[in-house]
Amino acid sequence: MELKFFDTYDRRVREFLPLEQNKVKMYACGPTVYDYAHIGNLRTYLFEDILKRTLLLNGYDVEHVINITDVGHLVSDGDDGEDKMELGSKRSGMDAWELAQFFTDAFQADLRKLNILPPDIWCKATDHISEQIDFVKELEAKGFTYRLTDGIYFDSQKLKNYGHLARLDIDGLQEGARVEKGERRFLTDFALWKFSPEGETRQMEWESPWGKGFPGWHIECSAMSAKFLGDYFDIHCGGEDHIPVHHTNEIAQTEAARGTRLANFWMHGYFLRLKDDKMSKSSGSFITLQTILDYGFDPLVYRYFLLGSHYRTQISFSWEGLEAAQTSLSRLYELAFEWGAPGEIHRPTLEAIHRDLNDDLAMPKALASLWQMVKSDLDPSQKKATLLEFDKVLGLGIEHWTPQTVNIPAEVEKLVKDRSRARKGKQWQKADEIRDKISSLGYNIKDEGDLTKIVPK
Ligand code: AMP
Ligand code: ZN
Repeated sequence: MELKFFDTYDRRVREFLPLEQNKVKMYACGPTVYDYAHIGNLRTYLFEDILKRTLLLNGYDVEHVINITDVGHLVSDGDDGEDKMELGSKRSGMDAWELAQFFTDAFQADLRKLNILPPDIWCKATDHISEQIDFVKELEAKGFTYRLTDGIYFDSQKLKNYGHLARLDIDGLQEGARVEKGERRFLTDFALWKFSPEGETRQMEWESPWGKGFPGWHIECSAMSAKFLGDYFDIHCGGEDHIPVHHTNEIAQTEAARGTRLANFWMHGYFLRLKDDKMSKSSGSFITLQTILDYGFDPLVYRYFLLGSHYRTQISFSWEGLEAAQTSLSRLYELAFEWGAPGEIHRPTLEAIHRDLNDDLAMPKALASLWQMVKSDLDPSQKKATLLEFDKVLGLGIEHWTPQTVNIPAEVEKLVKDRSRARKGKQWQKADEIRDKISSLGYNIKDEGDLTKIVPK
């Protein structure tokens, strides 16, 4: 069955064929580990998981790499401001290395909770400093670099095709560039190696041929993807925000040094927003997976919520949307449980689902085909077998779901009633104190209109 994806580089959906027979090499830009991932970040990793599972469904071996950005990602995309890791270290009181380890662990735990398949290789920027220095040396030897007071920069005007991925209007940029470009020759030039500030010792810094300092953010991905997957591999992905700067610059570096556009397909997951707000880690106001758990939802409800939208549409997060996802998912689990043992797969339904997934991961359409089957009068054993097969991509753990009968202790039941009374009487502080007490007894509570649900932690 033909497999097609939207390639941002070509701006069109085109047939996907692996470069090497039967093997797909994919690289996903990883998190900057100075804070928890927010649920927007996690949407991007879920999109990549659906991509990977669809490739597996098509019978390909997948070699998947995710990097960990634990140095060099500055507060501003214009290569100014502090390193997010050093900033996070000051804020948290942990040193930058502890901070990186702490948030890497937290990120990997989030992926596990969301049933996101782990990559074959995790690679940290700080473990690959010499590869990054070598890459910069290569660019230097080919005449693509220049030196400024604060670092070594990439000369983007030397590259004919610079900015193609993002369709950057280079002439338009040139006109408005004078103020923002600072010392740089051109606005789109970017740091390859930054020097440690004069008279300051950074927690993370290394010797280099140009002076003590640290790598720029973009060079880590060119250097590590080349090391693990080669100079030209199948798919490079990330969130849509990476198109104009980070991925544009990764391509520029690899094109200049190695003569390839780095990956055959460039795929981008669109943003999850909070109502009208763009969710960003640096703004500090964001929702984590833990927030969702604290409200009594299973993490897979969030997974199901995300599956309902195509990866190339922006979506808004809402608690109402999550409630709706919970209702549908619970129904699916309960029905699948009632259907009993699986029989024969219903081929026409599975083929329809497979066709949808192969059509640029049209998951909402695939889910519609699933629900059509659920409502049909097909034999339950066939429904079960078909759903289990589709669940290899959905990743909802259908096979292992069993109904939970939870015995809530009388003490907790009583506290919940007390809290409801306090809320009705607008005694908010008292209501909150009772909520904390219930929490200390191992239960979360969730208000749904007039109803309060009790969920074991
Ligand atoms: P970061 O940790 O900021 O480097 O981002 C990790 C991944 O999350 C990158 O692929 C980003 O493109 C992606 N990302 C950042 N914000 C969002 C968002 N609001 N929605 C979806 N993906 C996002
Ligand atoms: Zn990257």
